Amino acid sequence: SLSIGIVGLPNVGKSTLFNALTKNDALAANYPFATIEPNVGVVGVPDPRLARLAEIFGSQKIIPATMEFVDIAGIVKGASEGQGLGNKFLANIRETNAICQVIRAFVDPDVTHVDGDVAPSRDIETINTELILADLQTIEKALPRLDKEARTRKDKEKLAVVDAVNAAQKLLDEGVTLFAGAEKAGIDLELLRELHLLTAKPFLYVFNLDEEELTDEAVRARLRELVAPAEAIFLDAKIEAELIELPDDEALELLQSMGQEESGLSQLVRIGFATLGLQTYLTAGPKESRAWTIRKGATAPEAAGVIHTDFQRGFIKAEIVSYDDLTEAGSMAAARTVGKVRMEGKDYVMQDGDVVEFRFNV
Ligand code: GDP
Repeated sequence: SLSIGIVGLPNVGKSTLFNALTKNDALAANYPFATIEPNVGVVGVPDPRLARLAEIFGSQKIIPATMEFVDIAGIVKGASEGQGLGNKFLANIRETNAICQVIRAFVDPDVTHVDGDVAPSRDIETINTELILADLQTIEKALPRLDKEARTRKDKEKLAVVDAVNAAQKLLDEGVTLFAGAEKAGIDLELLRELHLLTAKPFLYVFNLDEEELTDEAVRARLRELVAPAEAIFLDAKIEAELIELPDDEALELLQSMGQEESGLSQLVRIGFATLGLQTYLTAGPKESRAWTIRKGATAPEAAGVIHTDFQRGFIKAEIVSYDDLTEAGSMAAARTVGKVRMEGKDYVMQDGDVVEFRFNV
């Protein structure tokens, strides 16, 4: 499954957050592979629709979509030069599909900051600089080879790759990540794919704030502006760690007393999932109500293939009702009566919240 790497300077709350993510009963996926390695956690994607479907269909079980988080230690100034855990850090982060930067915005004289004081914009720059330097090294190493290949073979596609790599180098030299600047600079990230550049991955940001600042709109707006167009999530890692120890109703009460509807962890998983370019469709029956992961834009046969490759090969059609139509009607039979259940063919592009039954040949 796709994964998000959690990175950040030391002492910003990464481990606190990662532990809370993987220990959370509501999220910690009830899977045997939930702790593959100490720094990898599989979590369930919160989806209140599943509980409602389970009610309607009398399902015995609810199975959410899942995604992986990887706690990646070792970024410090100079990591790209091999400082700290430099090389290991770079190898770990290269394997992830998106990067979540945890940025310290909380002030606590008992928790030392590696660079002296709390300064979110400086810390973002420190991390981005290391990622940018690592990408520049990758490019410097690859460019002569790519250039030679393209020239000797007069290969149009390779020449386009070389042009894109040169443009990327220029952007990175200006201190801009590919995620933030590629589109504006007219760089097609697809052409850079083989280089596995770190700053070409989607980014999202978690600001670890003091409780008092959590709901301060002025603070949030200022921080959000630092990272736009990336998504920003605001939370207090210490409170998240407390929330997971509480029974559901007490946790909700505590959240609401701080003016929040949803825990920071839940927001992180939900937004992280979307940042990976993923969405879900739903299946439901007496056995289970379940969310299945597909990429945005997947067709009905591709969606069927996520359940079983035979479903894709033998795909005939999909019987689909939107979650909203189904819940409004109250049951599958009622939805059918009012004409809300559709038959879709192999070109149908799946929509988020489609409740599906596939018809296939075996
Ligand atoms: P990491 O090095 O980034 O993994 O940071 P840790 O999660 O180990 O946290 C470093 C220290 O900061 C620990 O003593 C945490 O208890 C503390 N800490 C983490 N989050 C918060 C927070 O939101 N507020 C305060 N005051 N302390 C925190």
